[in-house]
Amino acid sequence: MSARPPKTVYIETFGCQMNKSDSEHMLGLLEEIGYRQTDDEKGADLRILNTCAIREGSEDKVFSYLGHWRKLKEAAPGSLIAVGGCVAQDRGEALLKRAPAVDIVFGTHNLHRLPELVLKAKAAGGPVVETFQELPDDLPETPVVRQNSITAWVSIIYGCDYNCTYCIVPYVRGREKSRTPAQILGEIRELAEAGYREVTLLGQNVTAYGHDLSPPTHLGQLLELCGQVEGMKRVRFLTGHPRDTRPEIIEAVASVPSACEFFHVPVQAGSDRTLRRMARGYKVDFYRKLVDDIRKRIPDAAITTDLIVGFPGETDGEFLETVNLVEELCFDACNTAAYSPRPHTPAANWPDQVPEDVKYERLRLLNSVVAEVSHRRNKRYLDRVVEVLVEGRSERNPERLTGRTRTNKVVNFEGPDALIGELVDVRVDSANAWALRGSLPVGVAVGGAATP
Ligand code: SAM
Ligand code: SF4
Repeated sequence: MSARPPKTVYIETFGCQMNKSDSEHMLGLLEEIGYRQTDDEKGADLRILNTCAIREGSEDKVFSYLGHWRKLKEAAPGSLIAVGGCVAQDRGEALLKRAPAVDIVFGTHNLHRLPELVLKAKAAGGPVVETFQELPDDLPETPVVRQNSITAWVSIIYGCDYNCTYCIVPYVRGREKSRTPAQILGEIRELAEAGYREVTLLGQNVTAYGHDLSPPTHLGQLLELCGQVEGMKRVRFLTGHPRDTRPEIIEAVASVPSACEFFHVPVQAGSDRTLRRMARGYKVDFYRKLVDDIRKRIPDAAITTDLIVGFPGETDGEFLETVNLVEELCFDACNTAAYSPRPHTPAANWPDQVPEDVKYERLRLLNSVVAEVSHRRNKRYLDRVVEVLVEGRSERNPERLTGRTRTNKVVNFEGPDALIGELVDVRVDSANAWALRGSLPVGVAVGGAATP
């Protein structure tokens, strides 16, 4: 008798690395009840949309996707649609009103329950909705199917205790909850044994790690412990908050050989009045000093940031303070966004909203300055030899390999497949705002042979 073919699951992920990591855990959980991942969107038995609510645009995308999937479901009766992530957490049952073809709605705090919800939906033949207000006290450890065999994400803290007046994250992700060092190190050791060379420690506010544990700890101590895991050559962390980026963290990055010289510390705006209205809890001078402290201790560190333009009440002059700060602090890269009013956030109801056309004009101007500054900053790598962890072939030009420096710069260069997964020295020949182009230095060993 031939075995029944496994069920298949297709997953689409919107949003940040945290969501991408959550999707890997959803796949791990579903594998336990016989679902195998597929790229075949049309033929899948189960389609999952892992959603993002950070801006209105990402939320709109969810409903256009679900419209498309409704048609696929009509063509394949019996297949299921599940919606998870931040929009599902926020909307819950209400999501079904706008997307009645959905079979399962689950939130950010009950991901571990996905297999049961799928089985329930199959048995019930009707929609199943379940969201929890908070993560369970004992954080469940969930299996994972990783999408990358060279670098891996490891969540270390969930949720966020800040209340920035524009941000929906605390509403949909709940309060901060850290995994224990033992759980995290266990996962990193397994990754090292499986051949992974790099991990990124993840959290919405990763620099707050450990304050809720007993005894309390902090990211600096965790980095030191990560540094002792044999075979794990690189450790990064994302995303920090300026207020929590304490000296011990900078010191650990400076002294732990595997801790990468890369800091993503969102400043959000260059005006004190805007920062106060955003409830960020620091002034621009505090941030300037942080950048100065990082660069004094680790001169070659890359520092990147997030910026919002068109926050309610932001004047032209205040916007220019943000532009000037980018010039002054010479960020390596900036994620920029036009302010998007979100439900459950105070700023969404303020009367002094900035008109859309003004926001987008500001965004355009800021982006041009950001590109110019990043280009200038990347030029400092010219003619230097940098260590690159090779991740694969470049999608744009398969002739080239692509990878990242310790400072998270993308480097593209020609080389053999044998280098994929390896740490190699690459000479930087040219730079643009987004990436570096390089070549293998003459005489460097490639898979045992020397280049001519
Ligand atoms: N915790 C990090 C911090 O302290 O800034 C940021 C995490 S948040 C998920 C990622 C980025 O989304 C933020 O840095 C912010 O720039 C952007 N963001 C959040 N809410 C936004 C909104 N309502 N409109 C535009 N951008 C927003
Ligand atoms: Fe959102 Fe970051 Fe502020 Fe938390 S600290 S509310 S995640 S922007």
